[in-house]
Amino acid sequence: MFCDSCGSFKPSQGLQQGCPLSPYLFVLCIGRVAHSIKLVVQSGRWNGFRMGRRGPQLSHLFFADDLILFSEASLLHVGVIQDTLGSFCAASGKTISNVKSTIFFSLNVLPETRDCIATNLNFSVVTDMGKYFGVPIVHSRVSKNTYVPLVEKVIGTEDFDDDVVKRFAAILPPSPYAKEDKLVWGLSKDGRFSIKSALSFLKGNISHSVNPFWQVIWSWASPERIRTFLWLSYHGRILTNVQQVHRRMSSDPSCALCGEAREDNFHTLRDCPNAKQVWLGPVPQCLWSVFFSGDIRTRIEANLSGTFGRENCDWHLVFGVAIWYIWKWQNECIFAGLDIPSTPIALIMKRVSNFVQAASLSRSTVLGPCSDEIQISWSPPLVNWVKLNTDGSVIADSSSAVGLQLAWQFGFRQLVAEVDNMATVNAILGTSSDLSHHGHLADSIRDLLAKDWRVQLRHNYREANVCADHLAHMAHFLP
Ligand SMILES: [Zn+2]
Repeated sequence: MFCDSCGSFKPSQGLQQGCPLSPYLFVLCIGRVAHSIKLVVQSGRWNGFRMGRRGPQLSHLFFADDLILFSEASLLHVGVIQDTLGSFCAASGKTISNVKSTIFFSLNVLPETRDCIATNLNFSVVTDMGKYFGVPIVHSRVSKNTYVPLVEKVIGTEDFDDDVVKRFAAILPPSPYAKEDKLVWGLSKDGRFSIKSALSFLKGNISHSVNPFWQVIWSWASPERIRTFLWLSYHGRILTNVQQVHRRMSSDPSCALCGEAREDNFHTLRDCPNAKQVWLGPVPQCLWSVFFSGDIRTRIEANLSGTFGRENCDWHLVFGVAIWYIWKWQNECIFAGLDIPSTPIALIMKRVSNFVQAASLSRSTVLGPCSDEIQISWSPPLVNWVKLNTDGSVIADSSSAVGLQLAWQFGFRQLVAEVDNMATVNAILGTSSDLSHHGHLADSIRDLLAKDWRVQLRHNYREANVCADHLAHMAHFLP
């Protein structure tokens, strides 16, 4: 807007509130005030508000077109402030509005000092600085309750859905332990990419009807290789001669065993004389017309869901095992020159019986009494050691490292820290950086543990951590 060639200019149309140029001009001008204040503070003549014993000094805050100045409550500082602002006013032609300006004193300022300063500045004294954009300008301890009216106002006035509110609530407050931002995968708990999480996300977004019979096949209780073979058969994907011709792997679709013109799924698994011989035994004659009809999917569904066998027979098992053996024997016959067994059904029934026995044995092993009872209780630390019990569910809060910090500040150098959340312990003890949104906390705790002291971090059962658990939850409801 300014350059040497055009020199200065006078705005002819005026700048009002709401004009897009107005904020820029304001920032340009007010930047000069900030610069002047900074110089005075650096010269040591202006003592601002110190945030903590070793914290930085705060002399001014500018929000949009509001200025908040902080200084020591003394007449000397009144003079310094007047000089600084006076110089700016003289240079810019602006004036200070005494009506719009207020002054707030902290409680330890004597009443006579307050009166004297207020009279000199000619500002009205306030005991409450009110709210700024609905946010209370507080002068005491900030707690959760401070912002409750603001949260209620936001939720009440805007039509936010629950998801948006939860997203707001999940934003962590600024933390002194926060490190550099990292790229994380938001669909997994630990922030790392996994195909499983991506797939479940996609499954949730794709609306297509899933054939419920897939579940029947995949929950079929027998060896994995037979289950896979059933699935391939159901989809017509086993490599019969018809399928080989279809895939340009062969030019002859006929059956190598019986010479039938087309060796497709049905022929191989059901209609080829060798296969048919297997089925005629276990399937009762009255069901043959049904059994030897229909398409491949219907037949497999009917055989795995219903029963075609004789009574007291796990027909779904017999069927599955039988079609797999039929395929196996036919291949061995064609490619290895082996004979098809003379008593195929006896072999199949033996296999089925073995599978049933193995399955029942496996169930009893899994469900059998295998847990040891252990006594859970809190135990005191060894002599010269201190124990810190932390509630794992609250460790997500940025205050969770406070226990460790206090232990360090109190001078304890041998500490047993017990947490009742195994995932938290693993996250802290893990070598790789945790990418979840609590990862920065695990990093900061790791930094604390790396100090020159002995800390044993352990997992403890919730039942032995009742006291810490109770105190942590009480703290949630403190004002
Ligand atoms: Zn055949």
